[in-house]
Amino acid sequence: MIELHSVNKWYGPHFQVLTNCNLNVAKGEVVVICGPSGSGKSTLIKCVNALETVGNGIIIVNGVEVTDPKTDMPKLRSRVGMVFQHFELFPHMTILENLCIGQEKVLGRSTAEAHAKANALLDRVGLTEQAKKYPGQLSGGQQQRVAIARALAMDPVAMLFDEPTSALDPEMINEVLDVMVSLAQEGMTMMVVTHEMGFARKVADRIVFMDRGEIVEIGEGDSFFTSPRTERARSFLSKIL
Ligand code: ADP
Ligand code: MG
Repeated sequence: MIELHSVNKWYGPHFQVLTNCNLNVAKGEVVVICGPSGSGKSTLIKCVNALETVGNGIIIVNGVEVTDPKTDMPKLRSRVGMVFQHFELFPHMTILENLCIGQEKVLGRSTAEAHAKANALLDRVGLTEQAKKYPGQLSGGQQQRVAIARALAMDPVAMLFDEPTSALDPEMINEVLDVMVSLAQEGMTMMVVTHEMGFARKVADRIVFMDRGEIVEIGEGDSFFTSPRTERARSFLSKIL
């Protein structure tokens, strides 16, 4: 579903932020990306839906070459859901409107269709009651669940998450992780940057460990935690576990 082939990227002429990154994510697979701050995790996943351009290398999502300048980026982006640390909802629109705007403007759905889809998703994330409120009236955990529902409204082929729980108060983290766990269990293809190693152990098929712009190690599920192969991964895990 997602292929990265020899991806390199520079910020400016001298700073190489990604070095020879190779990764294939299968349909239905959940890949967690971890690594120290500044290691290039956000940059890597932003390249997948072309929020950042790569220097060289090829990225293919669902058979479409993202790195080809001829690709229709708005269309591609609409099919790859992205959820950030800060929820980035439209503040001047109600929750329901937040869930409908992309469906109507990008996918061309009728208002009735968009509402039906939005209401089903709000029910799914437990926020039916909040449909007429504005983002600022919701808690951080609720806003993040709206952000996930908004991405799902576009029928994405994959979902990208960049530290979706890092900005949340501790008591709200689980309500967001629970939604992500259920998505994973339903077979959504996911790339998740997170420090929530409990989540990683529970649902990740593979763990990608990045350091200084490189994919240093890719571990299968629990074995990454119990027996990391590289010193760099061991050292990282000793600091966060
Ligand atoms: P992570 O998500 O792992 O913390 P990032 O991908 O955000 O890492 O950043 C990787 C490195 O690239 C960091 O050193 C960061 O300072 C740098 N960086 C990120 N975005 C930019 C940018 N737009 N311009 C220049 N440097 C950047
Ligand atoms: Mg980051």
